[in-house]
Parts: sequence; structure tokens; C-alpha cells
Amino acid sequence: MSHPAISRHKTVAVRVGAVSVGGDAPVVVQSMTNTDTADVAGTIDQVAALARAGSELVRVTVNSEEAASAVPAIREGLDARGVSVPLVGDFHFNGHRLLHQYPECAQALAKYRINPGNVGSGEKRDAQFATMIETAIANGKAVRIGVNWGSLDKGLVAQMMDDNARSKAPLGADRMMREVMVASALQSAARAERIGLARDRIILSCKMSGVQDLIGVYRALASRCDYALHLGLTEAGMGSKGIVASTAALAVLLQEGIGDTIRISLTPEPGGDRTQEVRVAQEILQTMGLRAFMPMVIACPGCGRTTSTYFQQLAQDIQTYLREQMPAWRRQFPGVEEMDVAVMGCVVNGPGESKHANIGISLPGTGEHPAAPVYVDGHKTVTLKGDHIAAEFQAIVDDYVRSHYGGGA
Ligand code: SF4
Repeated sequence: MSHPAISRHKTVAVRVGAVSVGGDAPVVVQSMTNTDTADVAGTIDQVAALARAGSELVRVTVNSEEAASAVPAIREGLDARGVSVPLVGDFHFNGHRLLHQYPECAQALAKYRINPGNVGSGEKRDAQFATMIETAIANGKAVRIGVNWGSLDKGLVAQMMDDNARSKAPLGADRMMREVMVASALQSAARAERIGLARDRIILSCKMSGVQDLIGVYRALASRCDYALHLGLTEAGMGSKGIVASTAALAVLLQEGIGDTIRISLTPEPGGDRTQEVRVAQEILQTMGLRAFMPMVIACPGCGRTTSTYFQQLAQDIQTYLREQMPAWRRQFPGVEEMDVAVMGCVVNGPGESKHANIGISLPGTGEHPAAPVYVDGHKTVTLKGDHIAAEFQAIVDDYVRSHYGGGA
């Protein structure tokens, strides 16, 4: 599914395990664990939860010998559970050593993320970068060259700032920083190709924490190369701020056809659910009409015409029910992810919105006759009354799914 109004920026397709990124592939959702990778059981649990939520690639940090030696066991544990999601290893500072010393880790991962700002400095940098690229080539793995605003290659920054200061028309500091980000990604990709890594093994990212900076950098990157691009606003933050900032940045770029894979870098609440970042990524893609992951619940915001919270509760219950069913429904009822369910609070917009959805219910507003007409494929089929409206409506949704998508295998 891709929206006809959006013309995708042409990129080279990259295989990451069994997942295609770039080219004609749909935009891929990825996520990252926040467990200690050396904690094999905990990391397996979290990767499985992220995959179950719909993450198509999962990144784990590989920051120590204990983490590197745990990676093969994590892969085996996931395979034993039937979780085939490809694992991406996130390497900084010591990645060259870990990939060399732990060949089973290098083999178990489907992609290596290399941060050119954290590969090393001076003469060591090129050799350490080459070690990681050569390991990727030897193992047939993809590489993401992931430049990050917070860890830019200091040597490159100094050199480009000097050149800029000497130029006749120097760029401002913000613009210059964006140029350094793009140059770091493109120069590292060119170096990887000279070492022998094929273009169809390379994905680029240039993550920044400011919305306008991110948009500017990716527009520049897309105009200068055809590498597959990973999008994400780094350090997006917590709660609604993180969601809004990520959505604002990614929506602009995705609308311009830029971005082959996305991650939403949300800071979870203490003890919060890590899978939220997967749901947000899916919701961005689905609300933009780029992909469909699960049935959408269309609910009105409520207003003074409905003083009861009943319709809010029903909308939440239906949303939760649909989400819980999706792992099984995805297999049993292909196409169900494109279903729309409307839950509306009163007669003003209720019947109209309900008619546009696959299934809709218009609950009674304050002072309205206590009856809830249900619409299926635009036609009123029944009017629910009494104390069991929620259960009866859920049964109608269930029947619709079984009769319209795949025959209830
Ligand atoms: S559908 Fe009714 S209750 Fe809901 S926002 Fe509109 S007027 Fe208010």
C-alpha cells in the first residue's frame, strides 16, 4: 500500500535478513530495545514484544564483550520462539573489536549500525571503520551508516568549519552543521564502497533532535544520493512532546517520499511500555495512508452534547480489543488491517461518520433517545439498546471480520 499522492524518492533496495528496505518496498518500522543486551532472557522478551507489536527490525546495543557474546543466544532464543525478526547491532567505539572477536555475533546480526563519529579518531579511524565494513562484507550483512547530531566526527567538523570560515560566502552555523552531517554520511558511504561493500548493502541516517534541522538534512541527503534512508528524530523526548515532534518531522519527509525505514525514539515513562514506539510509527504510516497495520477506530472527541463518558469507554475498549486480536487476525483474516470502525458520541456527526466506516455506532448524546444505531458498510443494520451495547457491538465487529476477511480460517 502506498498513497497515490506520494511519489517515493528512488533508492537502492537493501535486504536486511528477510526484510526489504528501500527500492519499491513499503516503509519499514523498526525499534530498539532498552534492556542490557547481556541479559539474554530479558532481551529476548523485549525483542519478542516489539516484534509482536509489529516491529519489522529490532536494534540491540552491542556495547561490551558480554553483550556481543549474548547476541547468538538471543537469536537462538528468538528462533526457538518462532520470532524471526532480524536483529540489528548498534556499535560505538569498540565495534571493530567486538565484531572481530565475536564472529558468531557478527553472523547472528542482520545489519550493523556504525556511527562514523564513534569509530575512533586519527589514523585508527580508517582502520577500525574498514574492519567493520570488511566483517559485513565477509558475512553478507547490511550496514547502516548512522550519523548522529550528538556524536559528529570531530575531525570532519573542524575541517569543514575551517574551510567554511575561509570561504568567500560562509554558511551560518546551523546550515554548516547540517552540511557536516550530510558530508559525514556520504563520505563514510563512499569509503565503505571503496572497501568493497555493495550499494545495496548500505542504509544511511542523519539523526538530529530539531524538527527543522532533520527536515533540512534529509532533503539534502535525498537530493544527493540514492542510498536507502532510515528516518528518525533523535532524542524526541517523552509522552506527547516526543510523539508530536517525531510526527511533525517525519510526516513532512514521508509526504515528500523521503524515508525507507523509520524509528520513533520515544523516552518511555519509568516502567512504561517500550512497544509504544512501534505503535506510534505504525500510526504515522497508517494515518498518512502509506501502510495499514491494524483496524482504525475513528472516534469523535466528545463535547457538551454528550456528558456521559460511555462512548469514550466504548472507543477505548474496541481499540484495545482490536489491538489484542491483531496478532492472530493478521494471519487468519488478511486485509482486516484496512477496516475502519467508527464510535461516535451523538447524532450530529454520528450517523454520517458511521456510514463512511466499515462498521459504525452512533451512541445517544445527552437528552437523545437512548438507542445506538449501528451501520455496516453504510447501511443501518440494527439499533442497540440496554445494558449490553458494548458486548453486542463487539460481537458485530467479530462477525464482520469473519465474514469479510478470509472466511474465518
Ligand atoms: S459527534 Fe456529537 S458528541 Fe461527538 S463531537 Fe460531534 S457533536 Fe459532540
